[in-house]
Amino acid sequence: MEEKAVETQVAIIGGGIAGAAIARELSKYKVDTCLIEKEVSVGCGITKGSMALVHGGIAYLSSRIIKRMDSDLSLEAFLNQPLNVKERLGEAGRDMYFELAPLLNTPITRPGRVMVAADQEQLELYKVIKKVAEANGVKDIVILDRDGLREKEPLINPKFIGGIYDPSEAAIFPPEWVRAFTENARDNGVHVFLDTEVKAIKENNGYYSLKTSNGLIKAEFVVNAAGLFADEIAGMIGKGDFSMFFYKCQMLILENKGYIQHVIARLPEPGRPRMLIPTTHGDLLVAHSMDQSTDKYDLSTTMEGLDLISTYPPDLIPNISPRKDIKASFAGFLAFNTKKLPDYLLEFPEERFLNVALAAPGLGPAPALAQEVIKMLADEGLELVEKNDFNPYRFTEPRFIDLPTEERNKKIQENPAYGHIVCRCEHVSEQEVVASVGTGARTLDDIKFRTRAGMGRCQGGFCTSRALQIMARELNVSPLELTKKGGNSYILKCETKELNEEEEK
Ligand SMILES: Cc1cc2nc3c(=O)[nH]c(=O)nc-3n(C[C@H](O)[C@H](O)[C@H](O)COP(=O)(O)OP(=O)(O)OC[C@H]3O[C@@H](n4cnc5c(N)ncnc54)[C@H](O)[C@@H]3O)c2cc1C
Repeated sequence: MEEKAVETQVAIIGGGIAGAAIARELSKYKVDTCLIEKEVSVGCGITKGSMALVHGGIAYLSSRIIKRMDSDLSLEAFLNQPLNVKERLGEAGRDMYFELAPLLNTPITRPGRVMVAADQEQLELYKVIKKVAEANGVKDIVILDRDGLREKEPLINPKFIGGIYDPSEAAIFPPEWVRAFTENARDNGVHVFLDTEVKAIKENNGYYSLKTSNGLIKAEFVVNAAGLFADEIAGMIGKGDFSMFFYKCQMLILENKGYIQHVIARLPEPGRPRMLIPTTHGDLLVAHSMDQSTDKYDLSTTMEGLDLISTYPPDLIPNISPRKDIKASFAGFLAFNTKKLPDYLLEFPEERFLNVALAAPGLGPAPALAQEVIKMLADEGLELVEKNDFNPYRFTEPRFIDLPTEERNKKIQENPAYGHIVCRCEHVSEQEVVASVGTGARTLDDIKFRTRAGMGRCQGGFCTSRALQIMARELNVSPLELTKKGGNSYILKCETKELNEEEEK
């Protein structure tokens, strides 16, 4: 018997920043939409392991410098070339984030960017960047002399003679933004399928049939926003004429003991971005190593990589001691497609099948990208009728610790679970863990990204067992069944008693 299929107008494959932003944008219209994500949570792909910046204008211009190497054009002429798609969407996306932040109740900060100059030649180069940036409408760029640099960053290494300052560089916490887009899309009618991997796609009679790990989905339109796997998804309809190539990038999270106020960057060199970033959570991110990779699943960190990036912070701020200040290390994949280097691959290789294969940076441009994709779908025949009941707002509870004392006391009286602190580093209460489970958290990482339990100095040493106990109780499962991030990422092996018995045998 033929399997019953879910029928929809648009199937979006991939719940990263691209897929989630597109889903929310589509939810403004009377269009039946499914967002399909293979992991148990959205935002767990490339989007999770990034530097989390919504770039300002000089970031785009300065990254062009690396690409100028083989060009005969003067620096000014080279920088003045028209914006490519990702740069154009990046410029538009930045302002959109600030409009969306209060609607989606999701934070964005604007630390600004300081790029340091090691010598006069680099300072002269920054002057050209400023000139080109201003000619293109980028405002408030300042060239810094030695004192100006020190005023911005008092602890900066005295070897730097000045720099350039762009106040528009912003920072987000990407998994939270993906969840915000997804939840708001779902509130506006988008069907979200988690833990659902698209395994094969067939086209027949004007429909694409998506065979997934959770059954069939029949869709008129497909948006392939599968990140690192976009080439494999396109290959499923015989259009895999590109591949994704990628670099494994290792990063450090350090305690920011007042070390930096702005994003601090050195002039980029090929394969060597050296940056210090104040995160939205008050930490300091060190970015990053860059090694070409072919294993889409290997996000391990290495001593060699960590040793290399440990040299970046003291080079910029001598007071930082990465070994003492380290909280965590992690890796991400900087991905590009082979067909449209170094830009986005935004094209219909087949009728009603749209590839959205991003090249870094993809976070900053995402809200503008979503609008661009909707226009492309409309041009391809998708009828767009605006809903008159679209709700742009997403409600989230404020963090308990951020409430005024009176309100906190009132809440504890009403519900003592607020008075039971589970994570001491980040001051997370039991009730916040309970509420996260209530709104869909199923893994330890879900709890971490929703409440911040486990993101503090002890990195979950104190709260992991408590969080697991609460999750097990609320979900009515054994703690042994709980995972860090779905799949086989089990945290506990067996009960301690079992272990003792095992050893006695
Ligand atoms: C080190 C580093 C630093 C970066 N810094 C920045 C920055 O500062 N600013 C910036 O703008 N960008 C930055 N980027 C780039 C940015 O992170 C990416 O461009 C962006 O996150 C890509 O998003 P995406 O939605 O295309 O991909 P993803 O986030 O990977 O989303 C794709 C989703 O598709 C799912 N999927 C895959 N296959 C299937 C399938 N068969 N079925 C169902 N689901 C599937 C995956 O699980 C994944 O969740 C950085 C990247 C790295 C690695």
